[in-house]
Amino acid sequence: MFDKILIANRGEIALRVIRACREMGIGAVAVHSTADADAMHVRMADESVCIGPPSGAQSYLSIPAIVSACEITGAQAIHPGYGFLSENANFAQILEDHQITFIGPSAEHIRIMGDKITAKDTMKKLGVPCVPGSDGGVPDLAAAQAIGEEFGYPVIVKATAGGGGRGMKLARTAAEMENAFSTARSEAKAAFGNDEVYIEKYLEKPRHIEIQVFGDGKGNAVHLGERDCSLQRRHQKVFEEAPGPAIDAETRARIGKICAEAVADINYIGAGTIEFLFEDGEFYFIEMNTRLQVEHPVTEAIFGVDLVREQIRVAAGQPMSFAQDDLVVNGHAIEIRINAEKLPHFSPSPGRISQYHAPGGLGVRMDSAIYDGYSIPPYYDSLIGKLIVHGRDRPEALARLARALSELIVDGIDTTVPLFNALLSEEAVLRGDYNIHWLEKWLDANLE
Ligand code: ADP
Repeated sequence: MFDKILIANRGEIALRVIRACREMGIGAVAVHSTADADAMHVRMADESVCIGPPSGAQSYLSIPAIVSACEITGAQAIHPGYGFLSENANFAQILEDHQITFIGPSAEHIRIMGDKITAKDTMKKLGVPCVPGSDGGVPDLAAAQAIGEEFGYPVIVKATAGGGGRGMKLARTAAEMENAFSTARSEAKAAFGNDEVYIEKYLEKPRHIEIQVFGDGKGNAVHLGERDCSLQRRHQKVFEEAPGPAIDAETRARIGKICAEAVADINYIGAGTIEFLFEDGEFYFIEMNTRLQVEHPVTEAIFGVDLVREQIRVAAGQPMSFAQDDLVVNGHAIEIRINAEKLPHFSPSPGRISQYHAPGGLGVRMDSAIYDGYSIPPYYDSLIGKLIVHGRDRPEALARLARALSELIVDGIDTTVPLFNALLSEEAVLRGDYNIHWLEKWLDANLE
């Protein structure tokens, strides 16, 4: 096992990894930008190294600075968290070349899944059901319109290098394809430096269902059921739950088995998430994330496992501490993402937190790196906390969420908490009866 791990991240996820290290008796090294000198992850770690100026590109994304920090402190492994370098195959490769363990999958697997066309092709060959659409990249408008005719409009144009919902455009007719195709390409070029796009049938009312998988890199893998992340704004998740209200045990076992076998087949190591759209009882693969996800705590809650601990174990060459039969769903968990944003337009709201009080009690987990008097820097993601609740069933989890929100105090800045208070009195949310478009429509009618 490692003596020391460096965490190449900030905010709540850095704390999450530090906590796992501490419980395992492993030293935790924090890295930080100059803007984060007072951040909680720096305070909580055993050691810290300043790696550059505020901009992410010059600090949390600076591979030379992070590798140097490892060498200075003698850290043997790096946990990348999510975002930043977590899905950067080049980073994983460089660490391997420096004999530093990357706590995550191989550079090759990151590369395969990071290119969505290759990912889809690989999954199809592994027997995973995919959204019908173009066979690989679409070179020009004429080809795009031919695909539209073949599969029938509406279709969605997507960037092969895509992420965070960027470079994605809907076309409802051949005429709309003209604009959708060129905008998707230019957005993809600007965001990812790669303008290759592909086309999928647009699903009108799917849920977003993702399967958590875990492999030991030696051909063994399990699934940890699904998360329903259908409540999204601009393709970004805001509310996630497990198990999915629309998924029964038989369906979970069926799709879970397909996913576990697929990752076992490629000797995948560590945590991964296979994302699907789910409509009329059918699953359609959209992408695989080769990292720990923001919403992993809901899975931890219902299975009673520590996914970060497990990531560290397999990275150190140890076996997984559970087998498929050990993984039994217990109750229901919900996570909400609290952002420093002002409603109704979700405009960024960085600044000083004058008062913070976290909720507690049975079945409540607050993952956050804020504290009284902390100033949220304007340079990074707006996520300031995740509130996770666990109950015996969905109604109990919902009641617990409302109760926990009533205890939470974050003063001095605006947050998205009022959104959740409002959602908790919506019938559709209480019934779990929503698809990926529900929240946008609700926001149009109620807020924006
Ligand atoms: P990204 O990596 O940019 O997040 P994804 O492929 O994961 O892109 O898709 C993000 C979201 O976009 C999905 O959760 C869903 O809301 C929507 N989406 C993607 N593909 C389709 C599709 N074929 N039909 C309808 N909605 C889609």
